[in-house]
Formats: sequence, C-alpha cells, structure tokens
Amino acid sequence: MAISDYIPVIGLEIHSELLTTSKVFCTCSAEFGGEKNTRCCPVCSGLPGTLPVINRRAVEFAIKAGYALNCGINKFSVWDRKNYFYPDLPKAYQISELNLPICLAGEVPIEYEENGEKKSKVIRINHIHLEEDAGKLVHDDLNGVSLCDYNRCGVPLVEIVTEPDMRSPEEARTLVETIALLLQYAGVSDCKMEEGSIRADVNISLMRKDATEFGTRAEIKNVNSLKSIYRTIEYEIKRQAQILDRGGTIVQETRRFDANKGETKSMRTKEDAHDYKYFPDPDIKQVNLRDEDLERLRAELPEMPRERTAKYIGFGIPEKEAKIIVSDKVISDFFEEALKVYNEPKSLVNFINGEILRRINLGEIDKTNTKYTAAEVAKLVQMADTEKVSKNDAKEIFREMAEKGGDPETIAKDRGMLIVTDTGKVLEVIEQVIASNEKAVGQYVGGDVKVFGFLMGQCSKALRGAATPKVIKEELEKKLAALK
Ligand code: ADP
Ligand code: MG
Ligand code: ZN
Repeated sequence: MAISDYIPVIGLEIHSELLTTSKVFCTCSAEFGGEKNTRCCPVCSGLPGTLPVINRRAVEFAIKAGYALNCGINKFSVWDRKNYFYPDLPKAYQISELNLPICLAGEVPIEYEENGEKKSKVIRINHIHLEEDAGKLVHDDLNGVSLCDYNRCGVPLVEIVTEPDMRSPEEARTLVETIALLLQYAGVSDCKMEEGSIRADVNISLMRKDATEFGTRAEIKNVNSLKSIYRTIEYEIKRQAQILDRGGTIVQETRRFDANKGETKSMRTKEDAHDYKYFPDPDIKQVNLRDEDLERLRAELPEMPRERTAKYIGFGIPEKEAKIIVSDKVISDFFEEALKVYNEPKSLVNFINGEILRRINLGEIDKTNTKYTAAEVAKLVQMADTEKVSKNDAKEIFREMAEKGGDPETIAKDRGMLIVTDTGKVLEVIEQVIASNEKAVGQYVGGDVKVFGFLMGQCSKALRGAATPKVIKEELEKKLAALK
C-alpha cells in the first residue's frame, strides 16, 4: 500500500514551564539557568520531614492557560504522587494531578497552509494538569558518570493533553506553535523551546483509510523543537507504514527522537511500562476555587492573538501583515508601544515588517535586546512620513539606532540628513535658477511643460537638505505661473 492509504492519527502531550518567580512547592527561584544546584532547598530536593506549600501563582497561571485554550476549569482539583525511581527526581515521586486536573476539555483553533491551500481546524484539548518539573541529568561519557542538577526540580509546569485530532505533521507543528503563542500572550509561559520551557510527547498511530478504529500508537518522548516534532511524525509515518505493509503489527512503545539521525528509537515497550502507583498526596491541600477568583483571572487575561489580529485589520492593515506582527508577541507589543507615540498603524507596520523584522530574520538584530525603543522608532517613522528625512535616510538612521542607539532626530542632524525647510532660501534659489536658465523658463512659459523637470532638478540640487521635494515643487510652480 502507498503511504497515502494510511491516515496518521496524532495526539500531543505538551509540557510548558510556568513563568512564576518561585517554584511550585517552595520559595526557590524558578528562573532558568543559575550555577548548578544553587536553586534548591530541602523541599525541592526531597529531604524527609519537609512539607510542600502550594504556590498560588502557579495555580492561577494554570487556570489562565486553561482560559487561553478555552478549557473548563475544575473548581476542585487534587494533587497526586506519581511514583517512579530515577535520579532526576530526588523524592522518588513527582507531584502531579491524575483524576481531578485543574483544567478540563478545551478547544484550540488552528490555521495553516498545506500545498498552497489555506486550512483551518479545531483541535480538542482533553485536559490540562499542573505538575512539578524534574531535575536535569548531565551524562559525562568520558568519565563514565552522570551528574544531577536539581535547579529545575520543582519548577511548575502544565501538561496539555490533546485528543488524537491531528492528521499531519503540519497540523501538529501548527498546534504547538499556536499554543505557545497563546500561553505567551496569556503571560503564563515564555515557551522558549531552546530553554526547554516547552516540549511535547508525540503519540502517533496509522489507520487504513477504510478502518473504523485507531491503530496502535507509539509515543515519542520529549521532542523539543517545532522542527523535530515535524520530522518525528514524518519519520514515524514511514516507519509504521513499512511495518503495516509487510503485514506486521505496531508495538505500543515509548520511543525517542534522535535529531542528528532524524530517526526514532525504541526506549521501552508496554511490558516494561512503569506502574506509577498514583495516590493523592496527603501533604498537600486540595485546591478549592471560588467563582470570584475564576472571574478575576479570566478578566486579567490580556488581549489575545485573535483579538489583536482583528484590531489590526480594523486599522486597515492587510490580514497577512497583521498576522505576521501578531505571530510574534515581542514584535506585537513593540508595535503597540510605537502606536502610543505615533498613531499611524500602516506606516509603522510597513517599517516594522519591511525593515525591522527583515533585519531580525537576517540575524542582524536581537529582538529581545535592542538599543532602540519603540518610541524612538515611532519618531523616526513620523519623521519620514512628514518628509523631515528621506525614506532611504530613515533606513540608514535606523541602522545606527540598532547598532549604537540614539535619538533619530539627533542622528539625522549629525549626519546632515535632516531636511529643514528654509522658505527664504527656497525662494532665493528658485529666483537664481530662473534667472540663469532663461531659455528653459521661456520654453516652459511658452507651454512646454516638459522642461519643468529640468528646472526642478536644478533647484533640488542647490537645496539638498534644505527643503522637501514637495515644497520646492509648489514654490517653483507658483513662481513660474507668475511669469506667464
Ligand atoms: P497515556 O495516559 O497512556 O499516555 P492517554 O490516553 O492519556 O494515554 O493519551 C495520551 C495521548 O495519546 C493523548 O494526546 C491522546 O490524544 C493520544 N492518543 C491516544 N490514542 C492514540 C492513538 N491511537 N493514536 C495516536 N494518539 C493517540
Ligand atoms: Mg502519556
Ligand atoms: Zn526549593
């Protein structure tokens, strides 16, 4: 059978660390990085006799994540112990939620392009639960030892479990991208893939086109980039199709993706699957939420990507451009700031998409660490719009702002790019040009309008930087008309 005779069925478990200041059951810093094992205490390193205390913020962030993904919120949720023995987990159990998770069924609309065709779909969320992250193991093969860093241990994270609703690598990739954006806008996670703050377990099975039930799935653990998610699924579709074509059966197993080889490898099969012996954690209070808390949290959600896109389209910005801005929260927030200083959305978007994003994408500018502010860029765009600087010079001025920083007007002045209209000088120059070009002026007055360009050129040359082309043209026309 051809691969196209099978339908891929994909469900994701997306883990995203929450942006709380401290960890979920102790006061240790939850910030990424830090010298190894300096952000731990008796609670998060699991010493006997310690008691965990819930970080209210973590619960609130999980609820906001739920609202961002259109979930129902469980007003009564219970913490459970997930028992397993592995060195990244000093307590030998992870505090998680099993039967009564914080968020229930939700929905995430996705939009993507496939073969040049625009498509949209709604992916259902089964639930979202809160849990603590584990530590990090560093394997030193040279010395044959493994080292543990417990700084991430106890950092709050949400696990977002989808229904098996995706049918292609592109749908899965888009869903993760969409969820990451929603969580960023909600202000609950930075979703930085490179720092492991968002990662996914990919569940995938194949079913024949005429089948009525899903096939057996493989679960590929901890895939940590959008590209890897895409490649993992592509690879699994091929692997599983080959097995099924030969009349084989898919083993339900956990696999791992090797990004260097672009392949997945078996880690463990169902027979040696963990029995986590979940039970409610007796040390931690159940979470009881009040309606007023839920209402407050929902109201605290800021403007989300859909609303922003609609708002920008309302400003007269083409949909495509609006979506480019919204798809990056840093850029969208920058645009919002710039608008406060110069309320000309179209001009700002042209400059941001055409110049700033272009250079960010080229790697010339680090968007999170810039030497220029939104207010300065707004001022620069306004200067170009009002012809205080030429469009080309505006790009040049921005180049300097990006490299060294500085006020656009000062830079323009220092570099002789500021156009200051000096009407006296304009009239003086025009008179000189008229006086020294008798022949051309005569032709113009006689009805040959083509020579206007020549006269205009003479004036502009003598007036470089002292007037905008518009002013020169108006004044020259007036003078010539008076001669007729
Ligand atoms: P478990 O608890 O064993 O991990 P779940 O039933 O909770 O299993 O499902 C985990 C993930 O696997 C979910 O995202 C779900 O959508 C997905 N999934 C379940 N069955 C299939 C299947 N047959 N093919 C692909 N994905 C599946
Ligand atoms: Mg699972
Ligand atoms: Zn701690």
